[in-house]
Amino acid sequence: MRKKLFGIFMVILFFGVTITGYISYNFTKKIILKNTQDNLKTECKLLEDSFKANSGELDLFVKNMGAIINKRITIINKDGLVLGESETKEKNIENHSDRPEIIDALKSGEGFSTRHSETEDQTMYYYARRVEKDGLVYILRLSVQVNVIENMLLEYLKLLLIAAIAGAIICTVLVYLYVNIITKPIRMLTRLSTTIALGQYEKRISITSKDEIGQLGHAFNIMAKRLQETITELSDKQSKLISILTSMDDGVIVIDNTEKILLINSAAQKLFESVDDLTGKYFIEATRNKEIHELVNAIPDEDVEITINHPIIKYLRIRTKRVINSNENLGVMLFIQDITKIKSLEQMRSDFVANVSHELKSPLTSLKGCAETLKYVEDKPTRDKFLDIIYIESERLTRLINDILTLSDLENKESLINFEKINVNKAAEEIFYIMEPAANSKEISIKLELESKEIFIYGDRDKFKQMMINLVDNGIKYTNKGGKVKIKTLKLDKRVKIIITDNGIGIPKKNISRLFERFYRVDKGRSREMGGTGLGLAIVKHIVQLFDGKISVESSIGNGTSFILDFPSGETDL
Ligand code: ADP
Repeated sequence: MRKKLFGIFMVILFFGVTITGYISYNFTKKIILKNTQDNLKTECKLLEDSFKANSGELDLFVKNMGAIINKRITIINKDGLVLGESETKEKNIENHSDRPEIIDALKSGEGFSTRHSETEDQTMYYYARRVEKDGLVYILRLSVQVNVIENMLLEYLKLLLIAAIAGAIICTVLVYLYVNIITKPIRMLTRLSTTIALGQYEKRISITSKDEIGQLGHAFNIMAKRLQETITELSDKQSKLISILTSMDDGVIVIDNTEKILLINSAAQKLFESVDDLTGKYFIEATRNKEIHELVNAIPDEDVEITINHPIIKYLRIRTKRVINSNENLGVMLFIQDITKIKSLEQMRSDFVANVSHELKSPLTSLKGCAETLKYVEDKPTRDKFLDIIYIESERLTRLINDILTLSDLENKESLINFEKINVNKAAEEIFYIMEPAANSKEISIKLELESKEIFIYGDRDKFKQMMINLVDNGIKYTNKGGKVKIKTLKLDKRVKIIITDNGIGIPKKNISRLFERFYRVDKGRSREMGGTGLGLAIVKHIVQLFDGKISVESSIGNGTSFILDFPSGETDL
């Protein structure tokens, strides 16, 4: 803008100087001509007086007078004959009766003309005057070289040019300074607009003038303030929206009408296992699932459950909604809930119910069968045999129900646990004495190998006992007659380890990973025969988790099994 203004001013200045120069040159030219005419007239009048008074030779007279007034003087008689000529010595000068100034002077008393002089061989300016002397008519003619007038004009033109150039230079500097001054606030406004556009909304302009520029600056400041308020409000709203969306467990995706993702929260990003920001990508690219993609067009009224296989199998519950703003359809919004956990829990529950029913069914069938048979059995030994079976089956049923209740109690996170400091050696000894009779009855030797110093863990004493009994009982159950079971306690760094080892039948490697599942048995027949419920190790796993511990199994077929329990040492008081 500064350059433009400066350019315009310079063009105006150029035209101004040129027009002024042209006009003043022409005026001056006229004035110089007029002055020359007036001078010639005046000088001619004076010459007339001298001529009338002169009685000497005319040629000498003109030469003397010409030298005095520094002009060419010619005296001509009424017939055009040159009587005296100041600038030439030639005697036979051509007749001058045809010269326009002479003709005019003879006619009207005086005459002017500008023309080429044959005598001088250059352009001359002539003034001729009719004079009467002694009854005779003469023409007195004064002439100057046009060159002289032109030289004067040239001199003037030079001065004019110098003045114009000096004026132009001064004006240019002044224009430059003026343009700078008037464009300064505009430049400030431009700079500030750029700064604000780059995000520094707190910047303001300091224009104090009361003119239009000042008003513009004031209006600009108001606009910047409003903009700052609006942007702050918007970014505040946006950051709130982003925090809400980020903290949501459910996925939210908004896509536009071209199916490009406008907004996606981190939960949705996680669902599709994407590390890159999916905003701006096509919806199908992000989800890579035809079924979900179809939902975007169908917009069903209810939630739809969909299974995705990529990147891993997941169960999703999706609700789609159109995004409408004042009757304009802006796109589609999807709320995605990951129901994989719920689904697997549902599956586990239904498996558990099926397993429990199955487990309950066999003792109940056996009880029912025995009870029915008893009706028809008369002899005592057979009756006693059936009564024994009823007793064993009801015992099994009781154990099963007790184990189910224990498990459900352990799974219920709100169940009360009495955390206390357990002296591990003492507790192991107790278990040893509880289990010794059972081991003895199977001719299995049970041994205790305790850490020399006292060791402690934190946990519920009853649950600790139950965990140990389950493991030692398994050792006895799955070890043949004459075998060995050992309970060992030790402390390593800040960990307490309890190892229950037997030299029993062992567990095949492939089955080890599933041992802690509910109702999982390696050998169903043997477990049943031993009165097992298939829930013992599931209960152990839960208790270990409650105690913040770990359990591992080492086993080889025919050589026996070791269950290694690992707990944080309870050295400090809780
Ligand atoms: P169960 O009531 O059948 O013993 P558990 O949950 O206690 O159920 O054990 C699950 C299965 O793990 C058992 O059926 C058995 O096959 C195997 N098992 C557990 N402990 C041992 C062990 N010490 N030696 C060999 N097999 C074992």
